[in-house]
Amino acid sequence: MATRLAIKENKEGAKSEILMFPKDGDMQTFMDLASQTLNINAKRAFLDSGDQPEIKAASNFSQDDNVIVTEGEDPNDDEKPEEMSIRLAVLGAGGVGKSALTLRYVRDFFVTDWDPTIEDAYRTTVEVDNICCQLEVLDTAGQDDFSALRPQWMMGKDGYIFVFGLDREGSENDLAQYYELHTQLKEEGQPRAIMLVGNKKDLVDEDPSKRIMTEEEGKALAKSWEAEYIETSAKTGHNIDELFQKFIRQVRANRATDPDPKDTETEEQQVDDCCIIL
Ligand code: GDP
Ligand code: MG
Repeated sequence: MATRLAIKENKEGAKSEILMFPKDGDMQTFMDLASQTLNINAKRAFLDSGDQPEIKAASNFSQDDNVIVTEGEDPNDDEKPEEMSIRLAVLGAGGVGKSALTLRYVRDFFVTDWDPTIEDAYRTTVEVDNICCQLEVLDTAGQDDFSALRPQWMMGKDGYIFVFGLDREGSENDLAQYYELHTQLKEEGQPRAIMLVGNKKDLVDEDPSKRIMTEEEGKALAKSWEAEYIETSAKTGHNIDELFQKFIRQVRANRATDPDPKDTETEEQQVDDCCIIL
């Protein structure tokens, strides 16, 4: 008598087919029959129950087993944690390198003459700690004439990257204003991750007299804002990946402690709900 098996491809919504497997058949017989039945190049078989163990010997088939047949892949590998979407705004004074570090990360090139008035959002998929996420980065225009837009930039974000120029006196002062706005907006919703970034490290490494803040001072400032401090160079790429990785880890930690954030409102609704005096 043959063993009756329900076999299907390793695809979402794949339909099962019945395969009558001869009692004296071996795994090669099974792969040949499965290839014909499913019209694929069958290489591996997995029991479709529990943690989907691989079936390595024909004697392991039982009557009416549900079997997933693949062309070599392991269906268990598909069970990566769900992709999450993360939104952030890059904030800071004009000329500190917001566009340069955004483009270095999402496009991997260095810009020398990016239009300072361009405000743009970039979408990219990244993997950090084996988990994929969709990252939406808003690169803002830092000039004073745009200050009315600041609350809009900051609404509906999972966090911010605060950038100043390690060589640029006063560029850290704008960040205090962003932090102040953040404290007003925060009460409206979820916790937000903040990375404090001292950019253009290559310039101050070359000429330390240009440095406006020591690393210790940067860390202390970050601490007062419950942020993490990092020094980067968009020019050389130094610490750019680390910056975004640390940011994503902070967002994940926030979501783990606050799994049901009040983030279902649209940005527009949030702006309407919240009154900020500029
Ligand atoms: P934004 O106004 O904050 O967006 O600043 P930009 O990204 O447009 O950068 C302003 C200028 O600084 C540009 O000429 C960039 O090439 C330069 N720049 C940005 N980041 C770095 C860096 O890490 N090192 C050096 N040497 N120059 C940088
Ligand atoms: Mg810019």
